[in-house]
Amino acid sequence: MLAYIGLGSNLKDPKAQIKRALDSLNDNNETELINASSYYESKPLLDIPGPNYINAVCKIETKLSAISLLNLCQEIEDNQQRVRELKWGSRTIDLDILLYGEQVISNKRLSIPHPEAIHRAFVLVPLFEIEPKIKMPLLGPIISLLDRINKLDVKKL
Ligand code: ATP
Ligand code: CA
Ligand code: CA
Repeated sequence: MLAYIGLGSNLKDPKAQIKRALDSLNDNNETELINASSYYESKPLLDIPGPNYINAVCKIETKLSAISLLNLCQEIEDNQQRVRELKWGSRTIDLDILLYGEQVISNKRLSIPHPEAIHRAFVLVPLFEIEPKIKMPLLGPIISLLDRINKLDVKKL
């Protein structure tokens, strides 16, 4: 299955945190990293105080089920000492499953496509960089989603 993961970090050397998470995804036996976007910089959501974020999106090929992929993402977050405090608070690393093939999933632990993706330049702009022709299930072509947001909310590094 092809899947896309959004990564974000604003603590403890964010670029190194993203690199380490990408390496961990690739090191998993069931998962191969196919491609990763450039790094982008964005301000914290809702002007929550804290350092700016570094974000990226990657494309993986995986044999894992969606829920096992979520478990892997959360293991990687734990390994990188993510502390869960405030919703949307500062973090060493965040991995969100944006897309899992063309599947639509909605249960207690998982919503795919990621429900916030359509509002977020730091997701859509890097996703467009690596997959400009992608059509998101329920949401449509990425290009028309991009038209509705402010692309200046992210800066390519
Ligand atoms: P947001 O989801 O708005 O980006 P967040 O990333 O800060 O916020 P977290 O604290 O990382 O939120 O995650 C809270 C829960 O979201 C997780 O425990 C997980 O069960 C759930 N979740 C639902 N859908 C997804 C998804 N597509 N990818 C990752 N986690 C998800
Ligand atoms: Ca997130
Ligand atoms: Ca998350």
